[in-house]
Amino acid sequence: MLIEANALSDPDDLKTAISCVETLREIGNSAELRPFVAREVMPGDLTGAELETYLRDAVTTYWHECGTAKMGRDPMSVVDGHLKVYGVEGLRVADASIMPRISTANTMAPCVVIGERAAQFIVADHDS
Ligand SMILES: Cc1cc2nc3c(=O)[nH]c(=O)nc-3n(C[C@H](O)[C@H](O)[C@H](O)COP(=O)(O)OP(=O)(O)OC[C@H]3O[C@@H](n4cnc5c(N)ncnc54)[C@H](O)[C@@H]3O)c2cc1C
Repeated sequence: MLIEANALSDPDDLKTAISCVETLREIGNSAELRPFVAREVMPGDLTGAELETYLRDAVTTYWHECGTAKMGRDPMSVVDGHLKVYGVEGLRVADASIMPRISTANTMAPCVVIGERAAQFIVADHDS
């Protein structure tokens, strides 16, 4: 199977990546870190289109694919707040696919929480 990740195909993803570089520059150039920082090594003195090209060349998915069966209420949502698949009786999804957005940190711990919540929902449904 071939998965085309389509990284940075949404303009918002590129904006987020640029904002990430800007935040890191702010931290790296702060007065507090000045004694420890000689210069910005990467991406260096790049802005605008050059920075965008740098990001497009440098970005990787980090294997955190998620959100293909997202939880929510809009027409693209697949599961409700109890992980139940809309329109299908007796089916829940409990994995990274239900994340409405990618988590800001790594995805494994949220998957554990999703699994724990699924167990709670199932126990609650059958505990009578
Ligand atoms: C190389 C790599 C490194 C990563 N490193 C980190 C990290 O350091 N920290 C972090 O937080 N996250 C990391 N992740 C991400 C994290 O592993 C995933 O987000 C997480 O495991 C997703 O959990 P999941 O339950 O959705 O899917 P998975 O963990 O993929 O679980 C799916 C399970 O379903 C089973 N399965 C598939 N088809 C069937 C079938 N037909 N019948 C029965 N079983 C089936 C599979 O064998 C698998 O066990 C990494 C991912 C990769 C690929």
